[in-house]
Amino acid sequence: MVEWQKRIVENLEGITVSLDEEVPFDGDKCLSECSGLCCFDIQVMVDPFDVFRITRSKHVHENLGITDTTKLYEGEQPLLLYYVGRTSNMPFAIINFRRVKVLGKDVKIKKCPFLVPAFPKLYAEKEGNKGNKGGKGRYFVVARAGEPMICALEKAKPTICRSSPIGRALIFGGKDRKKEYRFIYKPPDPNCPACKTEKKVKVGDYIEEWHLINSYKYKDLFFDLICWLQEKKFQFPKDLIYKLGQILYNFDNPLTKNIIETYRKANGRTSGLEFAELYEVFKKMAEIVHEERQKRSLKKQANSKK
Ligand code: SF4
Ligand code: SF4
Repeated sequence: MVEWQKRIVENLEGITVSLDEEVPFDGDKCLSECSGLCCFDIQVMVDPFDVFRITRSKHVHENLGITDTTKLYEGEQPLLLYYVGRTSNMPFAIINFRRVKVLGKDVKIKKCPFLVPAFPKLYAEKEGNKGNKGGKGRYFVVARAGEPMICALEKAKPTICRSSPIGRALIFGGKDRKKEYRFIYKPPDPNCPACKTEKKVKVGDYIEEWHLINSYKYKDLFFDLICWLQEKKFQFPKDLIYKLGQILYNFDNPLTKNIIETYRKANGRTSGLEFAELYEVFKKMAEIVHEERQKRSLKKQANSKK
């Protein structure tokens, strides 16, 4: 568990909110008063659905010319980092924040690679499109250097960014391995101007306005999968978890493509897999690998006794 997750767990009761509750938030302040605090020096975790949306976003497709998920993880400064958690032994992906240089000097600040200058034309257009509410939900930010910046992913930004300062925590554990979801209210930064306000938004309305239900649906499926892997206690070695996890986070990895193709043929489908189906296929694969490993280890034991 990383630092910010620990802080959430420690303060869970204090930050839990209900859907009917009203919480302080004024999105206009993202534009008028903020220096983009929440796109610097934080950790943004992405789930497979976020990766799916990022890969198909206009920015990644048209501006960066990336059409293959694999490319998000490649190069000297990849956009995303994929890894297996040291203690959890679970596969995760995060946005690869990059060090900022001011006049050639490292200022020890890390910036999200999707935070890009909002060119005046684009800036004016967006502002005009959204009236004076352009800043809501971190649509615009003014970076620390004073230059107007924008999240290039726009609608494809990760769920965690779109929903902030509202979040959803999954509580999982205890003897009965019970799962529980809680909505939380947590300003992305202690100095977040948008949260230091008298203006209030209803949690339920905010979720609806930002179309978060669909993202939560896919996030839940992913959480289910992670919980399942932990429950099963497969105890796969890290390198195997790494390879299995790539199926989930890279839709263009040859293994994933192969699985999707096989599934499509077997089920007479013309389009790709739904996330729920991909997760089911993943479970089956993990089970097959597990059985094979067990068989091999039993065989080894039998041979050594001979
Ligand atoms: S949510 Fe808060 S910290 Fe993030 S850009 Fe808006 S005002 Fe700044
Ligand atoms: S994805 Fe967009 S909103 Fe999220 S941290 Fe990066 S620039 Fe900010």
